[in-house]
Amino acid sequence: MKIESLYQKFKKSSGISTDTRKLSEGCMYFALKGDNFDGNEFVEQAFNGGAKYCVVDNNKAVLSDDCFIVDDVLTTLQNLATYHRNEIDISIISLTGSNGKTTTKELINVVLSTQYNVSATKGNLNNHIGVPLTLLSFSKDLDFGIVEMGANHKKEIEFLSNIAQPDYGLITNFGKAHLEGFGSIEGVIEGKSELYNFLKTNNKTVFVSADDSKQLNQIGKYQNTVKFGSNSNNDCVVEFIEANPFVTIKYDGIEINSQLIGNYNFGNIAVAIAVGQYFNVTRDNIKSAIENYQPDNNRSEIIQKGSVQIILDAYNANPTSMLAALKNLQQLEAENKYLFLGDMFELGADAEKEHQNIADFAEQNFRDNVYLIGENFSKTTTSESIKKFKKFEDLKPILNKLNLHNSTLLIKGSRGMALERILDIL
Ligand code: ATP
Ligand code: MG
Repeated sequence: MKIESLYQKFKKSSGISTDTRKLSEGCMYFALKGDNFDGNEFVEQAFNGGAKYCVVDNNKAVLSDDCFIVDDVLTTLQNLATYHRNEIDISIISLTGSNGKTTTKELINVVLSTQYNVSATKGNLNNHIGVPLTLLSFSKDLDFGIVEMGANHKKEIEFLSNIAQPDYGLITNFGKAHLEGFGSIEGVIEGKSELYNFLKTNNKTVFVSADDSKQLNQIGKYQNTVKFGSNSNNDCVVEFIEANPFVTIKYDGIEINSQLIGNYNFGNIAVAIAVGQYFNVTRDNIKSAIENYQPDNNRSEIIQKGSVQIILDAYNANPTSMLAALKNLQQLEAENKYLFLGDMFELGADAEKEHQNIADFAEQNFRDNVYLIGENFSKTTTSESIKKFKKFEDLKPILNKLNLHNSTLLIKGSRGMALERILDIL
């Protein structure tokens, strides 16, 4: 079926669904394939559940005139998203980076939403399926659509940029994340910069941190930029004041007191301010939007349990964000500091070295209060004072016995480690 005809049907539907367990009445169901399932097998279920149309790529799945057969369901979803993106013709802001994408996306969303009609990626739907779904959820009446783009290998951001065709873009940072797929930090820089390449080729606008030499290097002589940073010659001047524990920023003569911890969140807030300023959001609206924003989903959350302060950062981890979190804890004014660190995944051949680096830093700076959890961390070479546990279960009995009175805890590890479980035990 031609994309134009399919698009007419899409417009008559209530939206897209790819999961028969979560259908909305009147939707268009896309029969995607996963490692363990084939959506073509669920067409009957989709119709029973309220789907109006089904898009399939197996002849056997065609049950009625409302089933549309295509060569490949995933490619069709992506093409439909681009078609829709061009039809609605709203301003699209795309962002990628190794860390802080979702936080930054939400910050830009709350800032722009004070004066505009805005929609953004829901949760973390940032891959080759999530980006098309995000675009297809945008309507014509929006002023801005904000699209988070994630990647774990090269050419992915280029691919997603071609689907989303952003008018504005930014990279939060280049860090040691997904090294397995990118090969090295140089690979990360090249891969993430595919967004810059798209924007430059199409003469679009890029928001750049003037304090990040890697970003400046990648931008080179490109003029169509909005630069932000502490120096007064920047397009947007934002100054870091402190992170104790919450980040405070100076902007346009006032202080903005965020509810985000960690000096690493400064850049995330700064770019949201720059975007707001560029689109004429008033200083007071920028301030209130940022001050009201609270992180969720175990992303650098602060939790107080009696006299114990917990920095719950169990959402994810990689060498760059781990080191940033440790350095943040180091500069905090607190009596006793404890570390509970879980393995960092997807590091490939660098896993051993990167876990050792973190273990060394932890040992040098937090000596007696370091708890390392996971296969990788348990293989590191450390002194006796560092407590290591191959499995989370091994840590449990120790946790109960600890006297954590008046202390500050940092809990951080990759998603698969699910270190938020520590909270249930404390
Ligand atoms: P994902 O790859 O899962 O989509 P993300 O890039 O969207 O992640 P967030 O979900 O915003 O990132 O933040 C996850 C964690 O990354 C935070 O809890 C924090 O520990 C860390 N982090 C956020 N921003 C930065 C930053 N600028 N530099 C280093 N670490 C950061
Ligand atoms: Mg994210």
